[in-house]
Amino acid sequence: MDMPLPDAAILARKGRIVARLRAVLPADAVIEDEAEVRVYECDALSAYRCPPMVAVLPRTTAEVSAVLRICWEEGVPVVPRGSGTSLAGGALPTADCVILGVARMNGVLETDYDNRFIRVQSGRTNLSVTGAVEPACLCDCRQYRDEFGRGALPEIRGDDEQPSGCHAGADGRHGAGDRRTVV
Ligand SMILES: Cc1cc2nc3c(=O)[nH]c(=O)nc-3n(C[C@H](O)[C@H](O)[C@H](O)COP(=O)(O)OP(=O)(O)OC[C@H]3O[C@@H](n4cnc5c(N)ncnc54)[C@H](O)[C@@H]3O)c2cc1C
Repeated sequence: MDMPLPDAAILARKGRIVARLRAVLPADAVIEDEAEVRVYECDALSAYRCPPMVAVLPRTTAEVSAVLRICWEEGVPVVPRGSGTSLAGGALPTADCVILGVARMNGVLETDYDNRFIRVQSGRTNLSVTGAVEPACLCDCRQYRDEFGRGALPEIRGDDEQPSGCHAGADGRHGAGDRRTVV
């Protein structure tokens, strides 16, 4: 499969686009170095690779909003990225795109034990969702699970199915999960 040709006009404006992104994000949240953006060149469908033009790692909703505004105004494609475990090339960049990594947006917003519900930011990993509820359990989660069966707790650790490092937002976007998870 050939990758889509990048938009030469976007690449020509890279300096201005990066400067605008740097104006709304902390210094460590904008990655443009050619060697460093190679980290994002593929997802788990590793047969296809293409480094992005820039990667950004926002921490807040306001920063995401500012990035999206700039990209919209500049006509730059945006590819959201969680952990990059998509098997379908969902997080595969194009050479003229901005990768928007959500790994730093990983807070827990709400837990509701009665309804076995947790609301998290989109960069929270499956494994750390389990970590967030485990300390509050009245008994050991594994013991509880052995006794009452899997799914008795809001546990979406994917040690035998989905990778533990998947991000909640990506699971929702991709319709991913396993037999214990509703995202
Ligand atoms: C070994 C292995 C086993 C797997 N087992 C399973 C399984 O059992 N069940 C299953 O469903 N999947 C499985 N997968 C596929 C993969 O784990 C899921 O697709 C998972 O949701 C990807 O999460 P991620 O954080 O790595 O997302 P990424 O691969 O980074 O992104 C996935 C998609 O979501 C988009 N996206 C990411 N974050 C956001 C966001 N915040 N907002 C909007 N869009 C976003 C990306 O652009 C991309 O299109 C498996 C993958 C591997 C490698």
